[in-house]
Amino acid sequence: MSHPTASHLTESQLQGFHQRLLAAKADTEALLVQTANDSKPVDMELPIGRLTRIDAIQMQGMAQMNRHQLEIRLRQIDASLMAYQGGTFGICRHCKEPVGLGRLEVLPETPFCLACQESFEQRG
Ligand SMILES: [Zn+2]
Repeated sequence: MSHPTASHLTESQLQGFHQRLLAAKADTEALLVQTANDSKPVDMELPIGRLTRIDAIQMQGMAQMNRHQLEIRLRQIDASLMAYQGGTFGICRHCKEPVGLGRLEVLPETPFCLACQESFEQRG
């Protein structure tokens, strides 16, 4: 069992993360389908029952924000799956250093190590 990898992770750790990424991809895609109806433009002519139009517009905004976050997550998951195929899963895409195992356990789709993530956030 030799998977081509430049990774600091063991084969079984890689397999585990791969399974989690595939599951996360399926979940995220399902959520995107589920929320598709919520973020359609609000029809101003449609009677909305007890909801005011302002409420409907605010809910639409939230659905779109969530969808935006879901789309970002899906892109990160896809990129991580590509990295897995290419043997670079778990390598920070910025500094090319290994991403800490603890961080990968929490966020397997993360593209960056903690140090890079923090420096991006400090720069705003
Ligand atoms: Zn880094």
